[in-house]
Order: sequence, then structure tokens, then C-alpha cells
Amino acid sequence: MSTNVVDRLRGAYRGFMYSALFSALGLILEVVVFLLWGSIILFTDIIHWTVDTVLEIFGFVAIYYAIRVGRRFPWGVLVLEGAVMLLSITMAIGIYMVSFASYMVTEYTAGSVTTNNILSASGTILGGLFTLLAFIVQKKNYEKFELEVLKIDYTHALIDLIAAIVSTAGIIAVYFTRSSNIEILFVFISMTFIIHSLIEIMRDVVKTITGTNIDHELSIKLYKKLIGEYSNIVVDDVVARKIGSFYTVEAKIGVEPNTKISTVHRLRKKIIKSIIEESGLIYHVEVRIYPIPARKRK
Ligand SMILES: [Zn+2]
Repeated sequence: MSTNVVDRLRGAYRGFMYSALFSALGLILEVVVFLLWGSIILFTDIIHWTVDTVLEIFGFVAIYYAIRVGRRFPWGVLVLEGAVMLLSITMAIGIYMVSFASYMVTEYTAGSVTTNNILSASGTILGGLFTLLAFIVQKKNYEKFELEVLKIDYTHALIDLIAAIVSTAGIIAVYFTRSSNIEILFVFISMTFIIHSLIEIMRDVVKTITGTNIDHELSIKLYKKLIGEYSNIVVDDVVARKIGSFYTVEAKIGVEPNTKISTVHRLRKKIIKSIIEESGLIYHVEVRIYPIPARKRK
């Protein structure tokens, strides 16, 4: 494992670039297949794919900024990113809801199916192959760089692979049975995958807004790390917060009241370095140093 944060980030950046590329290519192919041969099952899969592609592209953009600016992350970009992301996803869902309503009224109530050509399955099969590629690339990257964001990405790719298999099975089943009930069943199954992607996005956004985005596991890990590495300080509190796919860390450190200011300054720099070393996703570290009150002194 490479310990250099910038190297690891560069690796993650390449991983996300491929992942976003596969996602975009798969999406284009699916749209082409849909335009040629139709199927509401394929269309539902396309909306799921669109939401995921938006996620991928923004993951890629965020890491691009992280590499460029190092420790200082442009918060304005993050806010803008979130806003654009939500807007594009709302648009995709809006388009889907209109299309689904029209399908219900014109096709389903008439007992007819929209999956009339077996070739519609080529869209979900191609999509599945691109998902498999993204999964392999991101899993390998995770093993190499050990960045949490890569793990999240390959886990999602695995779920998407299941989605592609289910959609393909659905298209084949409807083609042979001509059953509108089987078609709508597979549409609903496919919808749960859209919901899965939406939950993944909303969880981050809501947590960021409500401030419940503290990562206890990482906080404790950092707390223990600082205690292990520094003997003459009091590690009062370490809080790691997740914002989007990144972390900000706030550490409160107590020192002897008579510590020289130059020593404090050096200590602060060292502590920031120790914290950043822990995870490639930590970008902003705030170390607050104060004199230890008499009762807290060891
Ligand atoms: Zn997905």
C-alpha cells in the first residue's frame, strides 16, 4: 500500500475516470438500443444508469479538485457540485415519472407489452458488461490504494451488475410470455435499484445538512493514533466529519501551559500530518491547541 496521499488520490482519480467513462459509454449504448427496440424495462434501467453516471462523474470531478488543491478543498465547488447533482437527478426522475405514467395509461391498462424485441436485452447485457468492467477496475484500485471511496464505488457496481442481470432476465421473460404483469413486475424490481442509488445520494446530503455526518470509526481511529504517537500532550477530542465523499477533521489538543509557541506551532504541523496520513479522504484538518487545565494534567 502506498502511504503517499497524493499518489493514492491520483490512483483513485484514474479509477474514477475509467468508472465514469464506462458508465457514460454504457449509458449511450443503452439509449441507442432503447431507441431502436424499446422496452419500459430497459428504459427504467437507463434512468438508474443515468443517476449512477451523474454520481460517477461528480466523484471524478471532486477527486480532480482534491488532487489540484491538495489540502485546501474549495467548498464552493462542493456546494455547486451537490446542487448540480441534485438538479440533474431530479430532472431524470421527472422524465421517468412522466414516461412511466404514460406507459401505465397507454400500454399496461390495454394489457399490451412494450418489450417486443428480444434485442432490447442487448442493451442491458452491454450495460452489465460495462458494469463488470467498472467493478473489476475499482476493486483492483481499492486493493492498491485502500481508499474508502473506491470500496463504495465497487460495491455499488456489484449491485448494478445484479440490476443488469435482473433487467435482462425480465426482458427475456416478457418477450416469451407477452405478459404485461410480468413486465410491470420487472419494472418495479428495476425501480428499487433507482431508489438504492437515490438513497446513497440523499444520505450524504441530509447528513451534511443536519450535521449528523460524524464518522465515529475514523474519529476513534485518529484519537488512538494521536495518543500512540504523542506522549506529552492531552488528546481531548477528535471529530471526523464526512462531507460528500471527503472528511474534515477537528482535533482538540491540550499542552502544558508553559510550552513555547514555536513548539506549539511545530506540534500543530506534525499533528496535521499524522491525521492526513490516516486516510486519503481527509482534506481539511483543524487543530485547536489550548493549555491543559490543572485537573486534566497527567
Ligand atoms: Zn446503481
